[in-house]
Amino acid sequence: MNVPFLDLGRGVAAKREAIDAAVGEVLSSGYYIGGPHCAAFEAEFAGYCGAAHCVGVANGLDALQLGLRALGVGAGDEVIVSSNGYIATWLAVSAIGAVPVPVEPDPATHNLDPARVVAAITARTRVILPTHLYGQAADLEPLLALAREHGLKLLEDAAQAHGARYRGTRVGAHGDLVAWSFYPSKNLGALGDGGAVTTNDAEVARRVRTLGNYGSDVRYVNPLKGVNSRLDPLQAAVLSVKLAGLDAENARRRAIAARYNSELAGTGLILPAVPNWAEPAWHLYVVRSPRRDALRDALAAAGIGTLIHYPIPPHLQGAYAEMGLGAGSFPIAEQLAREVLSLPIDPHMRDDEVAQVIAGVIAGVRAAA
Ligand SMILES: *Cc1c(COP(=O)(O)O)cnc(C)c1O
Repeated sequence: MNVPFLDLGRGVAAKREAIDAAVGEVLSSGYYIGGPHCAAFEAEFAGYCGAAHCVGVANGLDALQLGLRALGVGAGDEVIVSSNGYIATWLAVSAIGAVPVPVEPDPATHNLDPARVVAAITARTRVILPTHLYGQAADLEPLLALAREHGLKLLEDAAQAHGARYRGTRVGAHGDLVAWSFYPSKNLGALGDGGAVTTNDAEVARRVRTLGNYGSDVRYVNPLKGVNSRLDPLQAAVLSVKLAGLDAENARRRAIAARYNSELAGTGLILPAVPNWAEPAWHLYVVRSPRRDALRDALAAAGIGTLIHYPIPPHLQGAYAEMGLGAGSFPIAEQLAREVLSLPIDPHMRDDEVAQVIAGVIAGVRAAA
């Protein structure tokens, strides 16, 4: 029996009737951009996150990009990002002419290390941009303290962290602005592209909405050079259905993670480290091994799907060759890229599939030794 890394079709099948009904409502509504389904989802997601405002946008990259612009970041400004993780965070900064300034993560949590951030702050720094990687919150309190002390904004990349908690409070309103993706494989995923920002700042929310609507609040009056970036109502209606089931799916992810934690404890793999203040959303379950490639091959031979998040750190990508940051510039990010392996943690996995992954990993570690 093969265990896929993720089978999105199962998640849709489980909610098929409610999704069909939601899509049908949009078709009947007469609103195909904006309208009541967008407004309803924005209100529901803001409420879920404990944020005063939610503004839907077209995708997670736009949420980051428009969020940065709404916080006043522009050409030549510096934004502190993590040296590991997904390149989208860096690309959002570059896309608006600002400069990503990488800082190494804490190797235990894979998240931006507050202790290393201070040395990267310059007169041009505007924003600290941590990612809640793999669904576990970055250590927000010290990052917020640093931001306040240096007159900076804190923007969180929460694309992997729907439902995660930091010190008991859901991610979504700790920083000045929080950027979300609803890419289909995220914990809260649409049936296509989607994104949003959440914030407690009404003016920042308004600016994101204006920027995503051609820079216009009043029809045909354009004070800003905006773009077209909207969450479409079909996706919003589907997201409302999915949001109602998010906590149950995250609980299932947590149960799978707990099983991996206990049953893989003796393998010698480095398992995810969860600080006592973090309640991860378990977007990914990432183990580390110096024999990662051999383990991945053994699992593939046993029919178990895995992925690597992420194999090449942003500074070593061709896209950032211009920065001249060669191999060895960010040794922690580079080591993580060599050693990380994501095991299946699809909330729709069956218990026998979880058992098969565990048996496969135990056998694979032996084979790779
Ligand atoms: C998915 C993701 C994004 C980008 O989201 P899109 O909706 O695909 O544009 C950004 N940052 C992180 C950490 C992500 O995982």
